[in-house]
Amino acid sequence: MGSNHTTRGSIEDKYDILCLIGSGAFSKVRLVETRTSPVERYAVKIVERTSFIGKEEFLDNEIEVLKRFSRLESEAEPLSHPNIVQLFEIYEDLSKVYLVMELVTGGELFDRIVDRGYYSERDASQLLKQLFDAVNYLHQHGIVHRDLKPENLLYYSPDEDSKIMIADFGFAKMDTSSLLVTECGTLGYAAPEIIARVAYGRAVDVWSLGVIAYILLCGYPPFYDSNDAMLYTKITRGFYEFHSEYWDEISESAKNLVSNLLCVNVNERYTCQQALDHPWISGNEAISRNIH
Ligand code: ADP
Ligand code: MG
Repeated sequence: MGSNHTTRGSIEDKYDILCLIGSGAFSKVRLVETRTSPVERYAVKIVERTSFIGKEEFLDNEIEVLKRFSRLESEAEPLSHPNIVQLFEIYEDLSKVYLVMELVTGGELFDRIVDRGYYSERDASQLLKQLFDAVNYLHQHGIVHRDLKPENLLYYSPDEDSKIMIADFGFAKMDTSSLLVTECGTLGYAAPEIIARVAYGRAVDVWSLGVIAYILLCGYPPFYDSNDAMLYTKITRGFYEFHSEYWDEISESAKNLVSNLLCVNVNERYTCQQALDHPWISGNEAISRNIH
């Protein structure tokens, strides 16, 4: 563990730990306030070490990646992107690790999709543009996120037109070997080459963004089966459809982009840069489509 960057003392010396603002499979996230005036508010991700017994590498990877976006790594100018949450401090005690992060207050993309049903093409395009831009930045710096899904994408503020932020680097990895073979992530969003346990790299993030793009446009996932073995087969073969009831009114341009993201062949799948250059993202194709 990167204990050399851990702040000395207890987190409670500096912060009041307040209400729970989120939780995931591996952690609880709470609001914290400094005991200064003016008060500063942050989010602290509290990770129980016991959840990582035998899997310490995941916590180490998360901290290694987050540290590159913080001033804790003093040698270099930190990485920084407007759509990626920043880490400020790390505390540790015997049972827990505390990651003090930038607080974002707009809630999970997941909840907005549930509330809205689906997004207009214009809104989906604007959202995906930010995500491809941020993930492209990660990839350019040798980082693969590996767990992009609507629970890990957070709106910066409650405003309807708030920017989106990428959080949860719990599965992220420095892509130094360019071949990563650990199985991880959530099945419904996982790329075929992940679940087939073959070596995989940054293209997995593009696949996940393809799943998210599909969901934003129609309100339901491209791959679904109550039976995991069937779901596995559907994903590895790339069996999904644009069901006419939901997709007929969606532009060909949008469907073309989704098809190039949900492409089983990693060599033919778009890169983030290709997605950014696609007319549905970069041009006006989606702008006028504010109904669906
Ligand atoms: P896990 O690795 O356990 O999934 P996450 O990092 O995804 O943990 O955090 C769990 C939840 O906490 C997120 O889905 C989100 O709702 C909330 N959360 C995480 N980071 C922040 C943050 N910086 N600001 C506000 N809420 C956050
Ligand atoms: Mg999460």
